[in-house]
Amino acid sequence: MSRVYNFSAGPAALPEEVLRQAAAEMLDYRGTGMSVMEMSHRSKEFENIIEGAEATLRELMSIPASYKVLFLQGGASQQFAAIPMNLTRNGTADYIVTGQWAKKAAAEAEKYTKVNRIASSADKIFSYIPDCSDLPVDKDADYVYICQNNTIYGTRYPQLPKTKGRPLAADVSSMFLSEPVDVEKYGVLYAGVQKNAGPAGLVVAVIREDLIREDIWPNTPVMLSWKTQADAKSLYNTPNCWAVYICGLVFEWLKKNGGLAAMRERNEKKAGLLYDYLDCSSLFRGTVEPASRSLMNVPFVTGNEELDKTFIKEAAAAGLVNLKGHRTVGGMRASIYNAMPYEGVEALVKFMKEFEAEHA
Ligand SMILES: *Cc1c(COP(=O)(O)O)cnc(C)c1O
Repeated sequence: MSRVYNFSAGPAALPEEVLRQAAAEMLDYRGTGMSVMEMSHRSKEFENIIEGAEATLRELMSIPASYKVLFLQGGASQQFAAIPMNLTRNGTADYIVTGQWAKKAAAEAEKYTKVNRIASSADKIFSYIPDCSDLPVDKDADYVYICQNNTIYGTRYPQLPKTKGRPLAADVSSMFLSEPVDVEKYGVLYAGVQKNAGPAGLVVAVIREDLIREDIWPNTPVMLSWKTQADAKSLYNTPNCWAVYICGLVFEWLKKNGGLAAMRERNEKKAGLLYDYLDCSSLFRGTVEPASRSLMNVPFVTGNEELDKTFIKEAAAAGLVNLKGHRTVGGMRASIYNAMPYEGVEALVKFMKEFEAEHA
């Protein structure tokens, strides 16, 4: 067996230790004689799995008791609709548009509420995060929406926007659990877990209790009502049991490896290695303004599309895979989530140096 260094943006690499444990428990989960995939979601065993996952997550993120944790389906994209459905009271919401995902979220919200796009970085192909220190937040805005780490463009908010007391709703899919987080600054934060925590098909949402209400958009499908999901402890219907289980293992792995402060340190070291090289390379350059750089997704180009293609192909042959940039941006993108070891980034930089020596 040989494993590659997988730089995929999502679904993305998982810790090898977690995969090994899942493999070992595949046929007989802890003496039950069955796999987690074959288990009733109403069984005692699964109850332990989902409650254990939530408890570990609460510990990792220091989630206050006044916040609910929900395990939801439909991917991050489903929350683009669920957010306006659950939060609209005054009928207006403010969106900061920093890339494709925020753009899509705003377009979806427009079906349910009035959307003000109060800031955008579209003018420079989303290569920076706009100044959010004094935005024209509507005093009646039901929420202010951001995508905190922009997976495609490789930007991350250097600090959270000032929302003038309005609840902040944040898509944190591609930075989930990559660094410590002050949950109390958010009304709701949510993540599709396939970027940094588990298999596709599960969303973790952390929502301030007072925002989980009965008086929501009248035609909200029952599955999209946070109240329904919270009252049923995420078991209104059959959840993605397998993904909940794997996430639980990943949360344990994070805890064992020092929690989110240790992750940030690791991630800063990994990203630093790659950015430092990009800043001095005579062939490759990063595409993002330094102050807005993501720790998780690092886009870069040579400036020559043919050479980019050659690089991606040769890197793959050397066991460094999924380095192709998003189709809307081109070039390369290295996604270096929690599960990517430092050695993986070292191997990438070494390969880039060799490629540079050959082609610069
Ligand atoms: C991948 C991604 C999404 C979409 O996730 P799905 O689970 O496929 O709907 C949304 N937002 C961000 C920031 C992402 O990285």
